[in-house]
Amino acid sequence: MIAAAPWLVPLVVFAVALALALGINAAVIARRPTRDSAALWTAVLVWTAGPLAALVLYAWTLQLVDAAWWHRGWHPLFDATGLRLALPWLPPLDLRVPSPVGPDGLRLAHPEWWALAIPFVVWLAVLLTRLVLPAPVRAPDQARPGAWLAGSAGFENSRRWVLWALVPPLLLLLLWSAPDLGEGLAQERAAPWGLLAVVAITLIAIAFSRGPDAAAATDQAGAAPPAAPGDWAAALRGAGFAVQTLCRLPATEAAPESREPGARALLDQWPFLRERRVAPELIEAVADLFGPDATRRGGRNRLILAADDAGQLEALAVAIQLTHLRLELVTLVVVPQAPAAFAARLAPWLPGPEAIHLPRAAVPIDSTAMAWVLDVGTLSEQLADLGDNPVLLGRIGLTVWFDLDAYSGVRAANFWALSHRLDRLLRARGAQEARSLTFARDHRGHEANFAAFWSQLLPYDYQPEERVLVARRRPHPIAIHLLEPGADSRPPDPANPDPGDPSLAALRASVAAGWRTRFDPPPTLDLVRAGDFLQQQVGGHRLAERLAPDPADAAARILEVGAAQVLALADLLAQGGRALTALPTHQVGLLAAPGNPYVRHLLAQLAQDPEAFFRRVRRLVPGVPQPAIVRRHLLLALREMEAVASGLLDTFQWRDAILDPVLEELANRHEIARRDVRFLDDNLVLKVDTGYRSSAAQYRPGPLDTVGDQLVSVVLREAGGALALLQRIDPERATIVAYPRRVFQVAGQSYRMNPWPATSAAAIRRAGVLYCTRTDDPALTWRVSEPRLRRTQVDTRHNQVFLDQGGLNKVVIQTWYEEEVTGIIEVRPERHGALRRSEPLWGEPIESLAFPTQGLLLRFLAEDLDEAPAALHSIAAALGQVLAVHVGVEEDAVLVMAAQGLKVGRRRESGLVILDLHPQGLGLIDALNDDDDLLRRLLAYTRDWLAECPCAAAAGCPLCLQSPPAIAATRHSVERRLSRGEAVEVLRRVLGG
Ligand SMILES: [Zn+2]
Repeated sequence: MIAAAPWLVPLVVFAVALALALGINAAVIARRPTRDSAALWTAVLVWTAGPLAALVLYAWTLQLVDAAWWHRGWHPLFDATGLRLALPWLPPLDLRVPSPVGPDGLRLAHPEWWALAIPFVVWLAVLLTRLVLPAPVRAPDQARPGAWLAGSAGFENSRRWVLWALVPPLLLLLLWSAPDLGEGLAQERAAPWGLLAVVAITLIAIAFSRGPDAAAATDQAGAAPPAAPGDWAAALRGAGFAVQTLCRLPATEAAPESREPGARALLDQWPFLRERRVAPELIEAVADLFGPDATRRGGRNRLILAADDAGQLEALAVAIQLTHLRLELVTLVVVPQAPAAFAARLAPWLPGPEAIHLPRAAVPIDSTAMAWVLDVGTLSEQLADLGDNPVLLGRIGLTVWFDLDAYSGVRAANFWALSHRLDRLLRARGAQEARSLTFARDHRGHEANFAAFWSQLLPYDYQPEERVLVARRRPHPIAIHLLEPGADSRPPDPANPDPGDPSLAALRASVAAGWRTRFDPPPTLDLVRAGDFLQQQVGGHRLAERLAPDPADAAARILEVGAAQVLALADLLAQGGRALTALPTHQVGLLAAPGNPYVRHLLAQLAQDPEAFFRRVRRLVPGVPQPAIVRRHLLLALREMEAVASGLLDTFQWRDAILDPVLEELANRHEIARRDVRFLDDNLVLKVDTGYRSSAAQYRPGPLDTVGDQLVSVVLREAGGALALLQRIDPERATIVAYPRRVFQVAGQSYRMNPWPATSAAAIRRAGVLYCTRTDDPALTWRVSEPRLRRTQVDTRHNQVFLDQGGLNKVVIQTWYEEEVTGIIEVRPERHGALRRSEPLWGEPIESLAFPTQGLLLRFLAEDLDEAPAALHSIAAALGQVLAVHVGVEEDAVLVMAAQGLKVGRRRESGLVILDLHPQGLGLIDALNDDDDLLRRLLAYTRDWLAECPCAAAAGCPLCLQSPPAIAATRHSVERRLSRGEAVEVLRRVLGG
């Protein structure tokens, strides 16, 4: 058969190889997330055709120049006798083909088939190597050899044009078809024939290297989002949103690559730093911290100030590995919340998931991991164990504080004590070479008060050379849109469940339009419900699969903006899509969080003047030690390690006035033991001091959002009657954070408080427990309360100060706060996200406990308030919302209330009172009192907001005074006696303008 038709052999070989190639192509396309096998085939083409063509050309040239050299074995190809290489300096290689001609003169073997087979063998070898060892991931701007072949060259994303390139090889293949291949001179054509054949096969594979759904998959990989700008907004409009484009920000110049040798070494060792375009300052800072002269230049601590997502995670991953490789120690990463989610984002840049350990409270730490990631609450619980376990403590080589600015108010006050406790232990018993790294945003402008903030919160004294400022850049142009659920919302798609939350509806629209989207779930969204929603299919994929893991990988972003985020937008958004190369515009859809219409007003200002908007900063409040918090952490610190009084003052920088009474009280209650100690100080001078150690057998600290020790448990009563502790709260704040029928979230799940068994918080404190149940009601609730102040005195440590030509003055007061809660107001999203507010739902009045606190009284002149009976209540409602945006405290940590005829000492005063809603106060009032300019600005913002509201209604509208929290604020506001007109009138009179 072969003898009859020798030309069949090459054709069969060609057909088999082509079938194999197409089979492999289909398998690769199916497996790759990008649905694209071009990277494989272009590499195969380059590595097969390149060397083979060189060899064929070389052999051909030899024969042209002098056929004799050919016969001396200088050519590397098969001939009729086999392969014989006899190069001068190498041992001869001799692969003989069995004699082609038998003794009877008949052909026995076909050496030309060997020659024909070589290109196929080389091709197959390259192909298999590439399949087993895929090409290393390259930065998209690095050229890949032959990649141009997989371009589309004007063929609208099709590679079929490559088929045209097949014409010459196929013509030659047919022209030289066997039997020419095996006969006479044409024998030499076998090698080029084989070469042309594999080139043709590879080209065919390239032409079909793009899977049918590659377009969507490419967007998912973020390489090139589809279509013209504006499409994204159109897609959101199509889903029923009113889309207002607030601003478009151009991209800035790309950062130059670092020239420092240390940073370059890191870039070479961890190429993802370059690929993901991590800010060069971050790489240099890490290189510097672990470099040979780290301690000479500055200490072992670094404070890094950068916009969000500038590459902190990647840089941190490198720091963790350097700690592991160079110091052979572990990194302790402390995050504000959700350590598991943080670890999931960090893990891709570490060698494997086992590199991270997530310690849990009261469970021993696994010391084999590279990094321990935990939240501050867990750290607080773990510190006692660490204190008892010097070996574990000595394993910590790097302490990382992530997102320093996320701590505010009560959490900041607890954080401060915690960071100092850890530092004290590490100094005494930790590793010599231990380092620390703190990440925070770059808070420009002294209004932010950032220097005072970090120096209060952290135990480090950063020198200028230890502070690293990452330049503000925008890798891509950004378009910021405000999304509002429109009245013309489409009816819900019957195939897909109604999301019930506008952010989910926006997310689905963005993904369906082919944009790889980053989704930051709003804090009030139930994550179980959101998880169910994300399982639905959009364009053949589960929605959850098409989310970007990180803002740096996202072509678009959906974000709910509340009081805490709105002034941080510049930092939050600047680095969107950083790791992507081709991104025409990073699209951001903002949804204003319900509850604070001032946020919505500010976003409108972003549209008017982005420059001015981005200059505004939020004032950071570090919180100050108040006796209950000092007491709690002092007990813990003394359990971890005994101390002398001077040492306590030194490490914690507590004032004697606060520390001494607490020590006295604890000693009297036999919770700590005292003794006199004598020791030599650093100058070898004998000192006598009092030493303290804890004698409390068991002490369990409260959670970090509480201040006291006698806490009330909020217990989940499940359907089967099982009970689970959800959280613990200060009883003084029970009506504020756990009022009856409140809907709240813990760890992303929604719960509703049960009606109280008593009508006073005093009874609840005695019982020590409140119950709640799981709910899937997406309602938001606000309590209707009536605040009362008693025993109010002017704080004589502060002077009264006049603002603005004496029309207004302020004075710090000490007072006892209590409130009566009479009902709630609920807000529920309707279909496609529009919100509907309920009428107040009344309940039996509940009395809070009274607690002492600090306040700031802004006195108004009586004549300014004449004929404006609703002004004070209206200003208070609006100022509370302005304050929540411009001052960094939780919204339930502060109250602005109207005081009419308030008895202060022996006088009656009228004005506004800004109150610290934590027992004893957390320093918020001091922070406000220190900054007259801030107060004046807050009042001016309130005036402008109310004056500029488009409603022009005397009573205001939901975008100004008629928001749920403003209405719920007092009985006065529930009865609809708020007046925008009077508020503006009085503020104008007081402030001018
Ligand atoms: Zn209005």
